[in-house]
Amino acid sequence: MDAREWIERFAELVEAEADHLTRLDAAIGDGDHGTNLNRGLRAAMASLHADLPPGKVLTTAGRALISKTGGASGPLYGTALRRAGKALGDTPEVGAGELATALRAALEGVRELGRAEEGDKTMIDALAPAVAAYAATAAEGMPAAVRAALDAAEKGAEATIPLQARKGRASYLGARSVGHLDPGAASTVLLFRALADVTPAGA
Ligand code: ADP
Ligand code: MG
Repeated sequence: MDAREWIERFAELVEAEADHLTRLDAAIGDGDHGTNLNRGLRAAMASLHADLPPGKVLTTAGRALISKTGGASGPLYGTALRRAGKALGDTPEVGAGELATALRAALEGVRELGRAEEGDKTMIDALAPAVAAYAATAAEGMPAAVRAALDAAEKGAEATIPLQARKGRASYLGARSVGHLDPGAASTVLLFRALADVTPAGA
């Protein structure tokens, strides 16, 4: 897994979907999720110097996301990447097992910071099933595991539609948050789509 390619691809997908993410956030939040994440990921890309090991790519990008994204999602995504990067340490190669450890650390970081559980209608609803699906499939190799993670993230995000938000800005809407896709869950799908895009079938 090439960490830089992963973040680069995530940035591309977020840029392409920024308007959509912002519209989702306009329905149950303050309409800035696409703008926030786009800004943060540009800063993250700019912070990446050449020749960083994969763990350092993720911690560096994470730090930029925390300081430049704005909104609740910046610190959450930034923490996810920082924890994932720390879990990788100095390893020069990220195989299926290392990525499992990194993804678990990312999920733990988001849980600790945001204190959201599955079902609260947040990015956790896409991230937690994706990490679980990855771990359950990792023995089959990275391409299969990444594909399983993407499928689970998509299903998890879709499943936020009927939920009432219990965390974040959308929770202020109470029952009016029902019937809308959570923007952070939608962007988490892009994180896993990016991972799938940069993981060739024979990897
Ligand atoms: P803000 O809500 O500050 O405007 P964004 O619009 O960028 O920030 O991000 C909103 C997204 O952040 C939500 O859709 C949700 O997925 C996620 N989020 C908000 N609060 C939490 C939390 N406590 N734990 C996990 N994710 C959260
Ligand atoms: Mg917002």
